[in-house]
Amino acid sequence: MSRRRLDNRSGLSAGLLGEIQTPISIDSMESVYEVTGEIGRGKFAVVKRCVEKTSGKVFAAKFLRKRRRGRDCRAEVVHEMAVLEMARNNTRVVNLHAAHETDHDIILILEYAAGGEIFDHCVSEELLPETQITRLIRQTLEGVHHLHQCSVVHLDLKPQNILLTSLSPPGDIKIVDFGLARRLGAAGELREILGTPEYVAPEVLNYEPITTATDLWSVGVIAYMLVTGESPFAGDDKQETYLNVSQVNVDYSREAFARVSELAVDFIRKLLVKTPEDRPSAAECMSHPWLWQQQQLCLSPEFIAVRTIRERSCGTKWAAPLEDPEDKENFLESPHSQAKKSRFDEEAPTAGGSDF
Ligand code: ADP
Ligand code: MG
Repeated sequence: MSRRRLDNRSGLSAGLLGEIQTPISIDSMESVYEVTGEIGRGKFAVVKRCVEKTSGKVFAAKFLRKRRRGRDCRAEVVHEMAVLEMARNNTRVVNLHAAHETDHDIILILEYAAGGEIFDHCVSEELLPETQITRLIRQTLEGVHHLHQCSVVHLDLKPQNILLTSLSPPGDIKIVDFGLARRLGAAGELREILGTPEYVAPEVLNYEPITTATDLWSVGVIAYMLVTGESPFAGDDKQETYLNVSQVNVDYSREAFARVSELAVDFIRKLLVKTPEDRPSAAECMSHPWLWQQQQLCLSPEFIAVRTIRERSCGTKWAAPLEDPEDKENFLESPHSQAKKSRFDEEAPTAGGSDF
């Protein structure tokens, strides 16, 4: 897999996109939408549910502060819009509908993901069955693959930034929060310290070059959390978390994985490896048998044989599904209801290295 590195010659502005097509309206957003309540909050953003007055359609309004820590960050908000525009045709990435600007904020009007964060499914008493988890991971990989093909890395993939279109039954995923996303450049390297400690790859902590493989580490963490209900690297404090990440100190003990399939463990083990070059790409991940196992159980042996022959003759690692796997899967009893929980302290993303 080829991994292009990020251009860091201009410091924090490396990898930022500047061109946007969406007009930024200076009309008050309240004249167009009725705001109905807060649905999320980060370090520099508040997200509110709102209803478009003319259509009655529901959206999520993300209010992003233009000044942060005394610095003008308008360019970074424009960059977030540009990444959303770039991924506009991909159903796994949340859609940008419109934008408004006030003295203090730029407000992104986003497609509303009514099902909330997949994080809620990681900390729930009743974890999702593996058939559901593999569907969500497949969809996440589709979105990540698309971003990587567009030479963009997300750098903040975590269960709080993967949303669902509906809660019960769990809908399709929507990737959100492109504030830390960066474009890969042909020259130079990005070694910025970004992301949330529990979810970032060792190369980020070690100030080594960041590549598309950095996102795949996070996919491994997300998969671990969905199947075990535990956060693989969370320590009692930040230092312990960093140490756990940089030593790839992962618990594959029988207790945590008592009800988890061997294929799930194999998938996670392949992603949570220290050397980025040794991690599979998003496309390679898609052909891992774990992601198709449950589906195959529902298919007839003849069907599977046809698929195997077709895959062999294609010679591709990107295993194309025979049928659209989305939305129509059966919901099985969760085998994880007794899963033990661990810390899930939400840490705000850090940038620029000061918090590390
Ligand atoms: P931040 O950069 O502050 O982390 P996010 O874009 O991640 O901002 O939004 C914060 C939270 O708001 C998300 O984790 C999610 O819970 C909620 N949220 C964000 N976008 C949407 C959306 N389009 N639909 C529904 N909820 C959303
Ligand atoms: Mg976020």
